[in-house]
Amino acid sequence: MQNRWNDRDLKTCIDAFAPQWGERLALRVYTSRLLGRDPDLVLHGGGNTSVKGAFRTLLGDEVAAIWVKGSGSDLDSIGPDGFPALDLSYLRRLRARDTLSDEQMVNELRTHLFDAAAPNPSVETLLHAFLPHAFVDHTHADAALVLTHQAPDLAGELIAEAFPGWGVVPYIMPGFKLAKLAAETYERDPSMPGLVLMHHGLFTFSDDARASYSCMVEAVDRAERVAGKRAQARTLVSVSLPGNETIADTAVALRGALGAMGRNMILEHRATEDVLRILAGPNVDAMARTGPLTPDHVLRTKPWPMVWNAGEDATAAVLRHVADYNTYYQEHAGGAGRPLEKLDGLPRVIWVPDQGIFAWGLSQEDARMAADIAEHTLKAKDSANALGRYVPLPEGDLFDVEYWTLEQAKLGKRKHAPLAGQIAMITGGAGAIGFAVSKSLLEAGAVVAVVDADRERVQSAVNEFQPKWKERVHGVVADITDPDAVKSAFTETCVRFGGLDLLVPCVGIALGIKIEDLDIAAFRRVVDVNLTGTMSILREAGRLFRRQGLGGNVVLISTKNVFAPGAQFGAYSSTKAGEHQLARIASLEWADMGVRVNMISVDAVFGDETRPSGLWQEIGPHRARAHGIDPAELPEFYRRRNLLKTRVTGEDVGRAVVFFATNQTPTTGATLPVDGGLPDATPR
Ligand code: ZN
Repeated sequence: MQNRWNDRDLKTCIDAFAPQWGERLALRVYTSRLLGRDPDLVLHGGGNTSVKGAFRTLLGDEVAAIWVKGSGSDLDSIGPDGFPALDLSYLRRLRARDTLSDEQMVNELRTHLFDAAAPNPSVETLLHAFLPHAFVDHTHADAALVLTHQAPDLAGELIAEAFPGWGVVPYIMPGFKLAKLAAETYERDPSMPGLVLMHHGLFTFSDDARASYSCMVEAVDRAERVAGKRAQARTLVSVSLPGNETIADTAVALRGALGAMGRNMILEHRATEDVLRILAGPNVDAMARTGPLTPDHVLRTKPWPMVWNAGEDATAAVLRHVADYNTYYQEHAGGAGRPLEKLDGLPRVIWVPDQGIFAWGLSQEDARMAADIAEHTLKAKDSANALGRYVPLPEGDLFDVEYWTLEQAKLGKRKHAPLAGQIAMITGGAGAIGFAVSKSLLEAGAVVAVVDADRERVQSAVNEFQPKWKERVHGVVADITDPDAVKSAFTETCVRFGGLDLLVPCVGIALGIKIEDLDIAAFRRVVDVNLTGTMSILREAGRLFRRQGLGGNVVLISTKNVFAPGAQFGAYSSTKAGEHQLARIASLEWADMGVRVNMISVDAVFGDETRPSGLWQEIGPHRARAHGIDPAELPEFYRRRNLLKTRVTGEDVGRAVVFFATNQTPTTGATLPVDGGLPDATPR
């Protein structure tokens, strides 16, 4: 483990934050970020830090205060406002109490903040407050967990070697009791450099920020060395990374089995050589049945991963896993002494030997966090087994954290977007309408594969989405006239997200030419893109929906020309009519598997300056001439042409797609006009 302290970076941090927040808090931010940067120390909101000092109130009083990481912050990106300040003297007086329930503790913390709008301080705040030092650092370092998850004698020996002179605190759930026990352990020998919390993590402390940080890093480095030195040598098996089609097949089979139990989830797949090598080991099933590295991981990964071997019946495997979870629930629920709301027993992490870790979440972020934790856990368990034997906490302790009132309260508050857990693919997704539809779907909570033929346009769409939606959007470059490319686009989407729930074919090229002047090759090109391309997309989607078995939606972006064609527009109108008819036929063929197919007939969506409609750029001048107007007047011309005198936008189309995708009405094979009202083009 590397000490990342760097005077220049420190100065940048001090310059940025000290003027407003003071030097202490700026220092606190700096070393917190150093800790956060090491995933072997903390992962996704894990770990916390604090600093003590004086808070100056509005009246000018100087009050002893503690700034501690608030919930919802990650150490690697935390800023000064991620540290709510609390009344330190009051918190310390709480120590005199014999008991303090979690609810009481949360209330005491919340009512002793200096800023009413501050985030909730960490549940480990009292532990920080009861220690005397200005700077307290806490991590869930993998290396410490490898050493503490051993049979007691060996664990004692390893801890003494890696953490000489440190206090050792047996496992208790975070909260008041743990805070008191940790403080008592420390006070038995105030010269100790830090605390080892069994099955949980490490605390270091000092009045000097750098000393506390360095103590943490050096200790973890020693722990890594001890683990490395004592590990039994093993023969390394050689492994090969699985191909995309294999991963996609597995993803779809697993997603179908999970979804059949009520949850459509998003995939994050991991297959490094390390992961594959460990999963190729002889004791995978036994290792899977051991609990997580720290109980709070249960919230992201559930108590255990499921193991699935390719070729096995995925539904049967999920059912077995859920039955196992139900037994665990029944065994421990009685001990809670209060009514519980049972959580779903579906696995979030599935180990597939030869193929890697398949992690699942209701959102891409949840899936990624589950995957990160699963990867670290797998490696740590493997290292622990190389030292001795990975000995997990008893299941009751896991259960207590999974059903902790504080966690249950959070779950109750969590709101899900209408399309959470849904995977959408938009072909022509980088065009004016496709882009707007993609945006609407992202806003509604779906993850989106933006498919388009032009690499630059795909990249620019993804770049525009990523600041807000991050890994929820994925760009795929594919020419839909090439059936192999279409197949690969579906495979890529399944590898990235796990399957498909919604397909939006949104393609169309046009020619403004009279039939008698049409060139056969040019006409064939329009047929190729609009009709054959759409058929090829529908065909792959149908096959995928059938294998996945979760129903789904197709919303075809059609046109008013299907109902009211225009002269000199034969190539476009006839091929779009063919597409439209194909979609209607798909609605007949796919109803049995719960897939709805609907169409949106659109008119005159011009896009905007950054993303003008390619179709209108192509045919605009021609249409303008036909109507005897200037091309710049076209949008206004079409606005005045419809009943509602409204300009139709891509966002309007996006809302219509979301309407169908959310299954609000029992509708399939239908056409919804989004055209401002055109009597000639009203579907009949
Ligand atoms: Zn902790």
